[in-house]
Amino acid sequence: MIEAERVQTLNDRLPVTNGHYVLYWMQQSQRESHNPALEYAIQSANRLNQAVVVLFVLTEQYPEANERHFAFMLQGLREVAISLSKRGVPFVLRRGDAVDVVPELARKASTLVCDRGYLRHQRAWRTRIAQEVDCPVFQVEGDVVVPVDLVSDHAEYAARTIRPKILRVRDRFLRRLPRSRLKRRLDSAPMAGDLDPLDIEGTLAGLGVDRSVDRVACFKGGTTEARRRLRRFASKGLVEYAVARNDPADSRCSTLGPYLHFGQISPVEVFVRIHGTENCSLADREAFLEQLIVRRELSINFVLHQRRYDQFSAVPDWARGSLRNHEKDPRPYTYTLATLEAAETHDPYWNAAMLEMLKTGFMHNYMRMYWGKKIIEWSASPQRAYRTILRLNNKYFIDGRDPNSYASVAWLFGLHDRPWTERQVFGNIRYMNAAGLERKFDIERYVLWVQSL
Ligand SMILES: Cc1cc2nc3c(=O)[nH]c(=O)nc-3n(C[C@H](O)[C@H](O)[C@H](O)COP(=O)(O)OP(=O)(O)OC[C@H]3O[C@@H](n4cnc5c(N)ncnc54)[C@H](O)[C@@H]3O)c2cc1C
Repeated sequence: MIEAERVQTLNDRLPVTNGHYVLYWMQQSQRESHNPALEYAIQSANRLNQAVVVLFVLTEQYPEANERHFAFMLQGLREVAISLSKRGVPFVLRRGDAVDVVPELARKASTLVCDRGYLRHQRAWRTRIAQEVDCPVFQVEGDVVVPVDLVSDHAEYAARTIRPKILRVRDRFLRRLPRSRLKRRLDSAPMAGDLDPLDIEGTLAGLGVDRSVDRVACFKGGTTEARRRLRRFASKGLVEYAVARNDPADSRCSTLGPYLHFGQISPVEVFVRIHGTENCSLADREAFLEQLIVRRELSINFVLHQRRYDQFSAVPDWARGSLRNHEKDPRPYTYTLATLEAAETHDPYWNAAMLEMLKTGFMHNYMRMYWGKKIIEWSASPQRAYRTILRLNNKYFIDGRDPNSYASVAWLFGLHDRPWTERQVFGNIRYMNAAGLERKFDIERYVLWVQSL
């Protein structure tokens, strides 16, 4: 059974008696396995003795998405289509806007199931679709360990305020999701798709998407690759994660960020795997679960409860006021967006971080902090820095455009943090410098590694 706290009813339509199938509109949870929305759709269909159809709507103008993101996503969707067909569930890939396409395909459905997404446009789509269709709509929350409404109904102040609320119930959700057997299997969909999920290159070539950012070879999309990384991390990276995770030159990180962002792996599956790993200390395990669950779900809490999560005004008053007081401070360097994007500043560590981002679509967490703090230092105003950081973050990171993106960028400006000693430009927000990198890590090794990419 799916935990009741994961399921919400999005409209008050009565059951449709003449529907032909249960439609699962897949959007956030882009995977066949450990997907509670899919299992919920199968269980509903079995009760009605009906088939299940899975629909994915590919929106070419998806906010801030470019070829790098689409390529990664299509690699994952190809795998979804193949895995679903083995279970007798057809996968329909349509181009367009979800608010048009989903109601059209739901016309002959008895039930519509969707997964849960937290960003503004994801919430708006679900609300609108639930109003448009004639059948009941159920939202099933599969991309957090602890269902968010169970944790808090307001914007949490910091990790220390949300942590006890999560830890109180966390282990109740430590369970593998059983797979349900579908009684009425279909070999093909009752309606046509207009894109072939198996033909990644053909699909990509035909899309009118932003081509300004190249795809990357070092991250291949899909659940199989996510699981390979999880296995490798559980057997090697987790040992000493608590102390080594901050070191960009000796990364112990899972690199699961992109896969979690696209829903290609379930955070519950990761939780179960890591919780059961015995080759590391309790401190290592808990340090990782702090990131995967507490920090990640704090970000989700932020975008859910802060209406302006993508704007400078989302930053706490104390930090905004302090930054404003220092707005006229002289900046040692100021750089244009073009210079930053070309990784041509005077700072070799920052340039290396930017190059890592350009070439791989990823960056180590500690370097993300340093990278963002320096853009604050080198921008004419905090507002401009905010826009620049968010723009670059979402353009180049495969895991960009995520709740973590918005919360982490706001963190650079004081969100979920505390006031520090006042200084030029930064006021009371936390400061970072190159001397810190040199003191703590073999940062030259990181630079050499990036140059070798
Ligand atoms: C300026 C800045 C920008 C960032 N932009 C993004 C972004 O666009 N997308 C994104 O997913 N993360 C972002 N982060 C958070 C973090 O850096 C990445 O999630 C992490 O580096 C991903 O690497 P990993 O999967 O190897 O992490 P691991 O250390 O292996 O952690 C496992 C998972 O825990 C979560 N996690 C780890 N660190 C954090 C954190 N500090 N806050 C919230 N969740 C965390 C992620 O989902 C991560 O995949 C940003 C951080 C900063 C400081």
